[in-house]
Amino acid sequence: GHRNKSDAPCVKERTLIAVKPDGVQRRLVGQIIHRFERRGFKLVGLKLLQVSKDLLSQHYCQLTKKPFYPDLVDYMTSGPVVAMVWEGPNIVQTSRMMVGHTNPSEAQTGTIRADFCFHVSRNVVHASDSTEGAQREIRLWFDGQDLLSWDCIDKSVTSEL
Ligand code: UDP
Repeated sequence: GHRNKSDAPCVKERTLIAVKPDGVQRRLVGQIIHRFERRGFKLVGLKLLQVSKDLLSQHYCQLTKKPFYPDLVDYMTSGPVVAMVWEGPNIVQTSRMMVGHTNPSEAQTGTIRADFCFHVSRNVVHASDSTEGAQREIRLWFDGQDLLSWDCIDKSVTSEL
């Protein structure tokens, strides 16, 4: 296997990224996948699905009492979602930076949300916000058997030095 030059453990961190129904309807799936591919991250799970209210209430369990929650349910169940699991060093934090602020109008230029949208209730993409949250969400959205561990042939020049 590969040695880690910094002696730090080579953590195979994973996160859940989802293209929300507005992103699918606007045909942004390819562009969003492209951002994670070109960063050098590894795709380990991918599916198109109609999200159920039950899945959503578990996924957003901390938000079910918020005033915007009913609208969030309507939005997230309005059409198909593309759910993905991506893997790479520090991917949870990095993907949050790539996705940008929850409110696109406050997102940094160059982030997905700043580049593709302007309203908090149509913000195109989801990314887990902590490593614990990522593990919980991945278990919720994917069967373990649908996640693939595989070897990137270019890893020595991309993300796994
Ligand atoms: N949301 C909304 N109105 C708000 C806050 C959040 O519609 O005032 C939606 C928005 O789609 C957001 C999701 O609820 O992405 C989850 O909110 P959270 O605070 O977890 O933000 P995120 O982790 O997605 O950046």
